[in-house]
Amino acid sequence: MLDDILSEKLSAIKESGLSRKLRLISSSPAAKVIIDNKKFINFSSNNYLDLSGSKEINAAACEAVEKYGFGGTSSRLVGGHLSVHEKLETALAKFKNKKAALLFASGYQTNLGVLSALGSIENTCIIMDKLNHASLWDGAKLSKARIFVYEHCDMDSFESVLKRAKDYKLKLAVTESVFSMDGDFVPLQDFTELCLKHDAVSILDEAHSTGIFGKEGRGLADEYGVSDKIDITIGTLSKAFGAQGGFVCASQSLIDYLVNKCRAFIYTTAVSPAIAGAALKSLEIIKKSGDKRAMLLNNAKYLKEKLVSIGFKTGDSRSQIIPVITGGIEQTEKLSKILFKNFIFAPSIKPPTVPESQARIRISLTAGHAKSDIEKLLKIIKMI
Ligand SMILES: *Cc1c(COP(=O)(O)O)cnc(C)c1O
Repeated sequence: MLDDILSEKLSAIKESGLSRKLRLISSSPAAKVIIDNKKFINFSSNNYLDLSGSKEINAAACEAVEKYGFGGTSSRLVGGHLSVHEKLETALAKFKNKKAALLFASGYQTNLGVLSALGSIENTCIIMDKLNHASLWDGAKLSKARIFVYEHCDMDSFESVLKRAKDYKLKLAVTESVFSMDGDFVPLQDFTELCLKHDAVSILDEAHSTGIFGKEGRGLADEYGVSDKIDITIGTLSKAFGAQGGFVCASQSLIDYLVNKCRAFIYTTAVSPAIAGAALKSLEIIKKSGDKRAMLLNNAKYLKEKLVSIGFKTGDSRSQIIPVITGGIEQTEKLSKILFKNFIFAPSIKPPTVPESQARIRISLTAGHAKSDIEKLLKIIKMI
């Protein structure tokens, strides 16, 4: 009975061209990967600084496992609050220029937890960029707060929504800094000024900018010199950090509130000591990775210029995330397949991950890519 219903649903998904499938990788997911026993250049990973697989970080993970064991064993509030967690939270708070931090099992869970906890305070509304990440949307919806939406990165639209929301006691304004599917930036100066002007709490998801922008990789808020104007900053340990997990940095009272009220923190087992140990080492390396950051952003700039000169649209990307927007689902699938035939792994990104008629190949550059990898990608795209 259930299987019948599901296979009918799955057929409909397949017919619309939006079917999703897992692709098996039999090597480490670095800049080169093995798929079907063949070597591919991998443009699909968020391992921006090529830190996943770093020997130093592996060793730090093993050291933490030797000391604490692999398991988190219980929730943080019950008996899972270990020194390695506290050390990492202290280091992350300092890195983000905030008073305190809290770790989560993933970035997704961080957004779910923070927005649902804060959004559930009475007389609160949540103001969202239209293209915010699914995890932010899910957290906002779970809170049952009134949600206002403004046009993507459009600060006029943002201000008009702020005015409409003026009667709410608590206004949470939420945006990504570098957007995950477009690689473009929120106009952060204007965003923070408008938050101050209209008395809104600013929440910035720096998933794709931490490790890449700002002094020592502190993020886009640091790059723009506005980190003290951001109330709540969220990050992931799963991208540039090359580890796993998520975190939020804010005032001590905000973190205390989450410890009391955030269900996604309270009702789950502490992050594995292996991950906390690895992330601590990773943070240390990230701070010293200025040369890698410069090379990565240089390569990204080069690739974008070349793609545009061939006639492809890369939107407003200003980062290591470069969308090659074809629009149609079929065209995108075709492009991805041709790349795959030429040993380049760059999966197509389709709705609902991106808006209708915005299907694309999302090229994700990392410090593990050589110039020759980029040239190979360009050569094949040129032939199309
Ligand atoms: C990837 C991502 C997340 C989720 O982080 P995970 O650690 O992978 O769960 C959250 N926000 C944004 C903007 C992201 O791109």
